[in-house]
Amino acid sequence: MTQFKDLGISAPILKALDAEGYSVPTPIQAQAIPIVLKGVDLVGLAQTGTGKTAAFALPILDRLAANRKHAGDRACRVLVLAPTRELAAQIGDSFRTYGKFLGLSTTVVFGGASMFKQKQALYRGVDILVATPGRLLDHVSQRTLRLDKVEILVLDEADHMLDMGFIHDLRKISTLLPKERQSLFFSATMPAPIAELAAQFLYNPERVAVAPPSTTVERVEQAVIHVDQKKKQDLLHALLKDKTIKRALVFTRTKHGADRVVEKLASAGFEAEAIHGNKNQGQRTRALDAFKKGHARLLIATEIAARGIDVDDVSHVINFDLPNVPEQYVHRIGRTARAGAGGMAISFCAPDERAYLRDLERLTKQKVPVMETDLSLRTPADDERVQRPKGPAGRSGPPRKHAPKRHHGSETHGKAHAKQGHAHSHARDEGDRRDRKGQEVWSNGPRQPQRGRRQRTRG
Ligand code: AMP
Repeated sequence: MTQFKDLGISAPILKALDAEGYSVPTPIQAQAIPIVLKGVDLVGLAQTGTGKTAAFALPILDRLAANRKHAGDRACRVLVLAPTRELAAQIGDSFRTYGKFLGLSTTVVFGGASMFKQKQALYRGVDILVATPGRLLDHVSQRTLRLDKVEILVLDEADHMLDMGFIHDLRKISTLLPKERQSLFFSATMPAPIAELAAQFLYNPERVAVAPPSTTVERVEQAVIHVDQKKKQDLLHALLKDKTIKRALVFTRTKHGADRVVEKLASAGFEAEAIHGNKNQGQRTRALDAFKKGHARLLIATEIAARGIDVDDVSHVINFDLPNVPEQYVHRIGRTARAGAGGMAISFCAPDERAYLRDLERLTKQKVPVMETDLSLRTPADDERVQRPKGPAGRSGPPRKHAPKRHHGSETHGKAHAKQGHAHSHARDEGDRRDRKGQEVWSNGPRQPQRGRRQRTRG
């Protein structure tokens, strides 16, 4: 099996990887690292969770360390562009972790944080700069940063960059970069607008592609609970009594929805943190930290805020609302089952969300198993099975013998009988869930482009 040292990574970085417990490169790492070390351009089809950050960070650190020089005042040698603040911060952390024995400098700049501190950090120049596009351009326009010394450019999650409306910023940035440079471009999907963007940044790139999102889906146990919209909060409270839900990421469709869920959880005695676009950076960082360190069992998030969040051992993803774009479902449930581990995703489906459920089942080519609870709603399929014969005066008669057994009429009763959930829980207790680190089973499926349909997905 390929080892990191076989890929040409130098000793100080190998030592840092050892300390992180990385034993073998993931498929994207095995493919991309030698290409990046050669100094040529690369386009990578990969999503978060595949080990993509290290796939570019390790060879970049190696190249910088092999050719040390001062970037110049207010300049950087490597520029990494990321769509969200959290992802940018995470990439910065990865560079620091993998490069901890190299003595290179890394700075992260994004909106919502102090401009002054960022200016100070940039003043004498940095080796690696990780930035969101808007704040990067703010620094350029205030002349606190110049981009003419960039040797290596990384554009991460290009598809999300487009979703978030960064296309104009990216075009502008491309005109400020030196022509002589190495460019690395990553995206989970490659529909026409992304390919056009790639063509603008890349020269004669080599291509790598790994694990399509469906492989993540296969590793996550999934369940859907049909429930009335008004009963979703009660259902969440009932589920949370299950102690096997150790660390859960709960997704809502809107920011207000996230706040409402947190408030109601608090009044029911469950501590939770929220993370979404209306929170300031300090609040977002604190919420994420509390969740990462295990101080908060629950993080309630909107789609965009959760993009790229990399938290170890998220045992459950709960879709309080189903996403209206089916690809988002795959991203969301990919927050559990990180780096090859297992996980469970439970989705609440109100009657008006059934079309979303059908869409995501079509995309993932899987039927999501139905989990029944005290709060479950009847589905149209049930109604087909349970035919109520009309009695005298139009009154409904009793259900037929073959009617499915359900716990109707006890909606005020708090505890959900999540039958399947209990079964899953036991399996998990018995050590079913494998440790993320040291995990050696990596799926390297054939390249399967996702459906090209994209919509704006601001959170
Ligand atoms: P990424 O796709 O970059 O977000 O990485 C997903 C997760 O995989 C992160 O938690 C990394 O720390 C972890 N990871 C990356 N490379 C490896 C590796 N070779 N072995 C084990 N874990 C890894």
